[in-house]
Amino acid sequence: MLTRRELLSLAGGTALAVALNPKLSAAAPQAASGPFSLPALPYSVAALEPHIDAQTMTIHHQRHHQAYVTGANTALAKHPDVAKRPLEEMLRNLNAVPDDIRTAIRNHGGGHYNHVQFWTLMAPNAGGAPTGAIAAAITGAFGSFDTFRELFNQAATTRFGSGWAWLSNDNGTLIVHSTANQDTPFAEGRTPIFGLDVWEHAYYLKYQNRRADYVGAFWNVINWAEVNRRLA
Ligand code: MN
Repeated sequence: MLTRRELLSLAGGTALAVALNPKLSAAAPQAASGPFSLPALPYSVAALEPHIDAQTMTIHHQRHHQAYVTGANTALAKHPDVAKRPLEEMLRNLNAVPDDIRTAIRNHGGGHYNHVQFWTLMAPNAGGAPTGAIAAAITGAFGSFDTFRELFNQAATTRFGSGWAWLSNDNGTLIVHSTANQDTPFAEGRTPIFGLDVWEHAYYLKYQNRRADYVGAFWNVINWAEVNRRLA
């Protein structure tokens, strides 16, 4: 589970600057009661323009992500003992989550995890070719960055309906795959390195039905420094 403090710490100075700017932080909703809260974005809502527009970013973060936070907290209010477990542990072992909240944790808990990683995965003045350890890992696993990007784009554009495209660690091997809805790679025994949201709510206002254009634009904002941190 990533707390707001951890997220800020991971995102570094930019996030701190945003968090300390009263004008920006005033827009953030109140933390819900329960183990999870909506993290502040580590950049302004317009920072990823023109690739991700400010209106989409605002609605996606403040309404969609907040709904996952609220849904997960509401479910866990019935099981305070389960609420103490780290989110990753719940998602890795959904069968150990009580029957009456298992679907809520899968959908809303998964949605919270997926979106927390998604916000930090992007940054202004980012994108381009990977650097550092992830560059070598991608070349080693897929032959080249271009080949990897083609596989990832294919996973993202062919996921039918709502879901996520992923680069994951599958028992020591890097793989590209996709999941439906808010399912996480954890539920498949894999560890996500990064994932791209391909729900229509992530792109429809700007790109309408052109998911491939949105997926293409993602490569202009991917934050390889954060990917390297997650890889490590
Ligand atoms: Mn989303």
